[in-house]
Amino acid sequence: MNTIDNFDFNGKRVIVRVDFNVPLNEQMEITDDTRIQAAIPSIKKILQGGGAIILMSHLGRPKTGPEDRFSLKHVMGHLSDLLGVQVQFAKDCIGEEARQKSADLKSGEVLLLENLRFYKEETKGDVDFAEKLAGLADVYINDAFGTAHRAHASTAIIAQFFPVAKMFGYIMENEIKNIKKVVQEGKKPVTAVLGGAKVSGKIEIINHLIDKVDNIIIGGGMMFTFIKALGGDVGSSLVEEDLIDTAKAAMQKAEELNVCFHIPTDAVIADKFDNEANKKFCNAHEIPEGWMGLDIGPETGQVFKDLIEHSSTILWNGPMGVFEMSAFEAGTHEVAETIAHATANGAFSLIGGGDSVAAINKYKLKDQVSYVSTGGGAMLEFIEGKVLPGVAAIEG
Ligand code: AMP
Repeated sequence: MNTIDNFDFNGKRVIVRVDFNVPLNEQMEITDDTRIQAAIPSIKKILQGGGAIILMSHLGRPKTGPEDRFSLKHVMGHLSDLLGVQVQFAKDCIGEEARQKSADLKSGEVLLLENLRFYKEETKGDVDFAEKLAGLADVYINDAFGTAHRAHASTAIIAQFFPVAKMFGYIMENEIKNIKKVVQEGKKPVTAVLGGAKVSGKIEIINHLIDKVDNIIIGGGMMFTFIKALGGDVGSSLVEEDLIDTAKAAMQKAEELNVCFHIPTDAVIADKFDNEANKKFCNAHEIPEGWMGLDIGPETGQVFKDLIEHSSTILWNGPMGVFEMSAFEAGTHEVAETIAHATANGAFSLIGGGDSVAAINKYKLKDQVSYVSTGGGAMLEFIEGKVLPGVAAIEG
């Protein structure tokens, strides 16, 4: 299979699907350029190899067509600065201007196309639209993991027009490699630390991971659905009544497969959802009426700490409590520190999913874990065992 490292880009026009969906302020300035920064290594590699690059991306959620606030022209200046190359811009992603500017590109030059989602054909996965984009280049690279779970024209459909010259960029390569390190090749003992608000967002992952891991640690708001399923009293904690049977089934499956399913024994409870609320520690299965659990307790924190310290592979998705409030962040903070410590002792750790990434950043531990996935929904679907259209289109 072609890879960005073994392909000869010399003299080739390369169309790269990047994720430049960055936040902009009222002045149309970029407020967080992480996604652009992440794409730079692939772009530089192609330029160094003598290729010319056509970049395509989406930005925001335009409704019915072009909208100035979603124009990728706002990204062009910063991108030029980061690359040290004056990036050209086409006011449309298909059509005569895009065709002409692509055809005129020389080695080492970069053209940025206007927002793909100004056309509804993009998200519909329209084949004609994909063919028009494909017609601009000789080689296709997908480096937008965040949209890899969508069968859009630029993320999946376009690949059929490049039967040979298609490959992943570095972001895609890294995401796939690191997620596989956990779900397919994880060195035992493998521990999945799962938290966050709701069981509904996580149950597919739990079910998919049960036969792949040794320990499943449950925290966050979703622990109370499991505790209720075990017959506990959870007061006014977050519970998804309709998922109690599903939670029971997951715990039963874990037992049959000899997987340790760890439900918190104690919790930090509060009399309202507020940083200034009255709070106390309590048995997580005996929460009084009028109180709600907003974090794991110290006894549970110690058990989780020991489990994580003794794991060789760790996957963390979702906070242990309402970590945005200082009163309820201790459990999440401790898990983050422990994962960093286990990593320093040789464990492989993968952090993924919006809020655990936010937590690892909050505690400035990003560089002390093995890999932080940027994928969000794509990462969750990959872990759930689903085939991602953007991955399948390249891998075949
Ligand atoms: P998710 O997006 O499902 O991973 O959920 C993340 C959110 O879950 C965060 O904003 C947390 O504040 C919230 N969360 C964590 N623990 C609890 C809890 N015990 N009760 C309510 N919300 C929680």
